[in-house]
Amino acid sequence: MEASFPTARCERCDKTVLTYVVLDEQGEESRRCVDCESPVAAAIQWVTADEVRSHGYYFGAAPDDRAVSGCGNGCGACSIRNN
Ligand SMILES: [Zn+2]
Repeated sequence: MEASFPTARCERCDKTVLTYVVLDEQGEESRRCVDCESPVAAAIQWVTADEVRSHGYYFGAAPDDRAVSGCGNGCGACSIRNN
C-alpha cells in the first residue's frame, strides 16, 4: 500500500501544494495550503511520496539542514555525522 498525500493547485502560491484539513465555523471540512494557509478550492489529487517530492517537498531533514551539512545530494547520511 502506497502512502498518499493530498495535494491541490494553490492560486496564491501558483503551484501544486500539500494541503491539510481544518474545520470551519460550521464544522465543515476545509482544505488549506500548507505553505500560505489560504483556502484551496481546487480538486484534491492524492499522490505518492515521490510525487510530493517532485513538487519540492521534503521528508525528514529540510533542504536547509542539508546545506549546512555540506551534502548537496540529500543522501541523508551526512547529517548524521553532523559535519
Ligand atoms: Zn498556498
